[in-house]
Amino acid sequence: MTPDAIAGLLQRQRTTFHSGATRSVAARRALLDLLDAAIRRHEAALFAALKQDLGKSDFEAYTTEVGLVYKEIKHARKRLARWSRPRRARTDLHNLPGSSRLYPEPYGVCLIIAPWNYPVQLLLSPLVGAIAAGNTAVVKPSEVAAATAAALQAMFDDCFDPALVAAVCGDAEFTSRLLDEPCDKIFFTGSVPVGRIVMEKAARRLTPVTLELGGKSPVIVDHSANLGYTARKIVWGKYLNAGQTCVAPDYLLVEGADRAAELVALMRTTITEFYGTDPLAAEEGSRIINGRHFQRLTAMLGDGDTSILGGRRDAARCRIEPTIIFPADPAHPSMTDEIFGPILPVIPRDSFDDCIAFARERPKPLAAYLFSESRANRARFLSEVSCGGGGINSVVLHVASTHLPFGGVGPSGLGSYHGKASFDAFTHWKGFLQQSSRFELKIAYPGREPSVSAVRKLMG
Ligand code: NAD
Repeated sequence: MTPDAIAGLLQRQRTTFHSGATRSVAARRALLDLLDAAIRRHEAALFAALKQDLGKSDFEAYTTEVGLVYKEIKHARKRLARWSRPRRARTDLHNLPGSSRLYPEPYGVCLIIAPWNYPVQLLLSPLVGAIAAGNTAVVKPSEVAAATAAALQAMFDDCFDPALVAAVCGDAEFTSRLLDEPCDKIFFTGSVPVGRIVMEKAARRLTPVTLELGGKSPVIVDHSANLGYTARKIVWGKYLNAGQTCVAPDYLLVEGADRAAELVALMRTTITEFYGTDPLAAEEGSRIINGRHFQRLTAMLGDGDTSILGGRRDAARCRIEPTIIFPADPAHPSMTDEIFGPILPVIPRDSFDDCIAFARERPKPLAAYLFSESRANRARFLSEVSCGGGGINSVVLHVASTHLPFGGVGPSGLGSYHGKASFDAFTHWKGFLQQSSRFELKIAYPGREPSVSAVRKLMG
């Protein structure tokens, strides 16, 4: 797509937006229904593409991709009228007589940029918010999940008027050009370095942004945790989608070396239970997205490192078996950047204090998790570890909630979405005071000012 064509598309959407075509609750509902129908119509093609790009089974494609989008659509559709109503606010004494209200205003033309790891869900879930809030949108799937990007493009071309919602495909350079065009809101999901580029570009025009980024999400396992349960939860959450999940447990901090060894033994048994004795031989199973990421991950494992448990790989199929590094040194290469693969370093610590200090010394993560039966430790964890969100005796599942805003903090992101938070992410709430011309309080006008002591009482 040429820069002129991109500018033309955005201009067309701006004209549509200003026509008011997206503003009524009925129009928003109709667009949400259209999105729901489009996905259902193209579901088989999307499943096939997800299998081709990431080796996802139909079960995973449903539960972690389209199923979550259907849920978001249903949730928004049901509550849309309520969310869209102006909200009353209190009016200060010095502004009386008058009434105060908050009016939800869609931003206008929105740009949604998605990554490759959940390439359907991470493109379409934000779109639900954009549509529900009354915007038009241009969505840009990740070129790295190429088959899925093509399936999504076909779906939008088939079902949507591009003046309302359009998909555009392209690489980093293309996306960079897209970001040079004026739009009213940018919603970006992806890596921290690209998030920085997006924010710099947005800053030039002061375009509002939501940044859904990544980072190293820690799991703390304290002395009181139920280890069998913990092992099953962590193995499930870590190796889902071959570890290519933004909120996957990145590394484990375990209170006590003996408990860490016990947990590792339980996780190894669980891996065999879930994936068999030879996970690489299985017909179905998630794979690493491409050769570049496969190389990046295998370089992390090195050769002949005795702390690597598992680590077998199949370069031809881009697969790495569920792998644990134990005991992991905090200086191990896997501890430098977000792992984003099926490799789990387990670091024993002497005390719960050590675990908390270790997590706090690092950039604020997208998610943090605690496994504990201790009420005191749970309270400390919640108050002392800053993160986007997370779970206690739970991993990953908070992301699947329509009732919890999902997003990072600091280097792991800016803003949040899901459920009502998605509506708010694409809405500007404008505050208005309405007064009557029939009554005029003149004391603020020059020459009529009362004493400061009288004003002090009035303003509180
Ligand atoms: P990425 O940042 O490389 O790419 C994301 C999008 O940005 C793609 O559409 C890509 O085309 C575009 N892009 C890439 N380089 C660009 C550039 N220089 N200028 C403009 N646009 C550019 O991320 P990825 O590799 O696709 O995804 C993995 C990352 O995303 C991980 O860090 C992961 O933690 C994060 N992530 C976060 C969430 C979340 O919800 N917070 C979800 C999934 C993934």
